[in-house]
Amino acid sequence: MNYKSTRDKSINITSAQAIAQGLSTEGGLFVPDALPKITENDVLALCDKSYADRAFDIFKLFLTDFTDEEIRNCVTKAYGDNFDTESIAELSHLLTGTYILELWHGPTCAFKDMALQILPHLLTVSAKKTVPDKEIAILVATSGDTGKAALEGFKNVEGTTISVFYPEEGVSDMQKRQMATQEGNNVFVCAVKGNFDDCQNGVKAIFTDKEISKALEENGIMLSSANSINWGRLCPQIVYYISAYADLVKNEEIKYGEKINIVVPTGNFGNILAAYYAKEMGLPVNKLICASNANNVLTDFIKTGVYDKNRKFYTTVSPSMDILISSNLERLLYHLSGEDTELINKWFGLLKDEGKYEVSPQVKEKISQLFYAGCCSDDDTKAAINDCFDSYSYLMDTHTAVAYKVYSDYKKETGDETKTVIASTANPYKFGAAVYSAVGGDCSGLDEFTIIEKLEEKTGTTIPQPLAATKNKEVRFKGVIEREAMPKAVTDFLNNQK
Ligand SMILES: *Cc1c(COP(=O)(O)O)cnc(C)c1O
Repeated sequence: MNYKSTRDKSINITSAQAIAQGLSTEGGLFVPDALPKITENDVLALCDKSYADRAFDIFKLFLTDFTDEEIRNCVTKAYGDNFDTESIAELSHLLTGTYILELWHGPTCAFKDMALQILPHLLTVSAKKTVPDKEIAILVATSGDTGKAALEGFKNVEGTTISVFYPEEGVSDMQKRQMATQEGNNVFVCAVKGNFDDCQNGVKAIFTDKEISKALEENGIMLSSANSINWGRLCPQIVYYISAYADLVKNEEIKYGEKINIVVPTGNFGNILAAYYAKEMGLPVNKLICASNANNVLTDFIKTGVYDKNRKFYTTVSPSMDILISSNLERLLYHLSGEDTELINKWFGLLKDEGKYEVSPQVKEKISQLFYAGCCSDDDTKAAINDCFDSYSYLMDTHTAVAYKVYSDYKKETGDETKTVIASTANPYKFGAAVYSAVGGDCSGLDEFTIIEKLEEKTGTTIPQPLAATKNKEVRFKGVIEREAMPKAVTDFLNNQK
């Protein structure tokens, strides 16, 4: 299987090239040239396998230029005791016909671990095949979850280093603590005076600085990114939807062939796109339900066919979905337009120039057959957390709660009784203050650790070990710098690593 670009028909590369390169030079995203199919026998064969073995089977379909041994090595390193449950992606039964797919049992307690625990290994294999003898230097600008998950994924991975920049005032106390206490001998973390855009622009400036890349090149170092548009992050996400279906069959909740709905709390459209790919591969899926918070650009798009980012940006209690440009949507539109790179160039050119485009009626029709979309406010989100805890003694985080609320709206509106899997993207303790106040707690004057201890007491749930552990860990990274100082900070770090 080869990979193409969504914006250039002439590109035809291997999966290793797609993963090593990340983004196509003309700005397009890499997509598989044909989706592999999975049959009833393939899915049934997964039922009795471990998560790592399930991942092995699915990866083999997509990474055809990797050897079996290479794939085996990657999945074994990624999906083991770094997760706190043997099933890795745990399927929890909420009530008859509604299931929660817990994607947050990894080291940082958020679903980004599902991909970022394996990306470093996919990337080092890919680099060996395409740019041998190069050391990979990962640069990340983060507003929270991605930075920590990338640090945990890349820490002590041979042949790589990772530098993470976050806005000094733009992340939660827990997120700051998680990053400042990061362990590993190849990691660098630094706060930047400014907001997330300053961090991101600083990182982009380093990537495009010819002098820096020349100096690094002479040192045998290649810059790369762990961004969510890398195919090496998307492919691992397809696995858990197929795995969840296999678990439903294994647990006799469904018979093979019975369709399920999948609900996904959505930001950059990566997670729900993976569910779309699973459906297109042949997994019996009915509706894909796209849930947004007050930043509801996708809800409007799916309902009207008009994507318009010219709107107010809201800071919400589900910050990982506070996004106005959902990059991975480009991949969906590429497939639904019949791989029409000209149309993609036109639409994404308009998005860049005017912040707005409208898809053709045919594409709009296909979208409305595949997807349902809905959104909800912070008040609705908190009410959903409280309602779910009251009814089922199940404590959800704020992002999962958006999905839960949109799904209940969907059910009311359509009467659809199809069995449904809700993707749960973070452990509730990651967003302790919002969750504690949702279940009636009073956070005023309390620090993050006191809040999560009170949440534990009130709900009888348990603080996950990785979050509890940050309390007594040594703070290793205290630096706060101006955006202009970022290039020097990175080059100093990389030179010291040599
Ligand atoms: C990143 C993230 C999301 C959004 O996922 P996308 O793939 O960007 O749509 C949702 N919830 C949490 C907790 C996240 O960290």
